[in-house]
Amino acid sequence: MAATVSSFISAINDSITSNKVFLTDLDGVIGDADHGINMTRGFNAAVLKVTEEDSDVGATLKKVGMTLISTVGGASGPLYGTAFMKAGGEAVGKTALDGETISKMWLAALEGIKARGKATLGEKTMIDAIEPAMEAFNKAMGEGATIEEGLDKAIEAAEVGIEYTKTIRATKGRASYLGDRSIGHQDPGATSFTIILKTITDHYKKEVLGV
Ligand code: ADP
Ligand code: MG
Repeated sequence: MAATVSSFISAINDSITSNKVFLTDLDGVIGDADHGINMTRGFNAAVLKVTEEDSDVGATLKKVGMTLISTVGGASGPLYGTAFMKAGGEAVGKTALDGETISKMWLAALEGIKARGKATLGEKTMIDAIEPAMEAFNKAMGEGATIEEGLDKAIEAAEVGIEYTKTIRATKGRASYLGDRSIGHQDPGATSFTIILKTITDHYKKEVLGV
């Protein structure tokens, strides 16, 4: 693999930073208008902690996760932080990833978020994008798809997940204070996850496949 883990983190930092206002505005409608600020603070810090020398995918992702937990005050910091730490736990000692490892990392991340946030599918959170995206990836891989085809299917499912969050009431996080008034608005966390997933996919295609 030509692309380093740090180059992926750097790409995520760039896209989160350029979506800072968008994510904050989404959170302004159903939360406290800080999601973009939180995510940007976390990834700005994470990018400074990793270098080109960090070749162990698992150890590097754990470092990113710990940085997100320690620098982000909002709910999303501990949740994304847990996700990166758990995903990293499945990739310790690896310098490249195959589809099977990615599936394991995704599941560990999802389970970590669910355990930490005590939320499940249908509560208008990031889970509504993360879980269907993982399932679409696994389904595609099971049918013999390549990693990039699997990631493209995952993006489609995550986007459907974002649309789904518009139709439901929030029952977890700050948006739950709004009750039925949260209906009609997309979840910021489901949106930030989809941005991260798209960035990982683009970076993989460009840097690993060279397309
Ligand atoms: P805060 O809610 O503390 O202001 P952020 O605005 O950074 O934190 O993040 C809000 C996002 O976090 C929501 O859009 C939602 O996707 C996610 N979220 C909040 N609570 C939970 C939870 N219990 N489980 C999963 N995701 C959650
Ligand atoms: Mg918020």
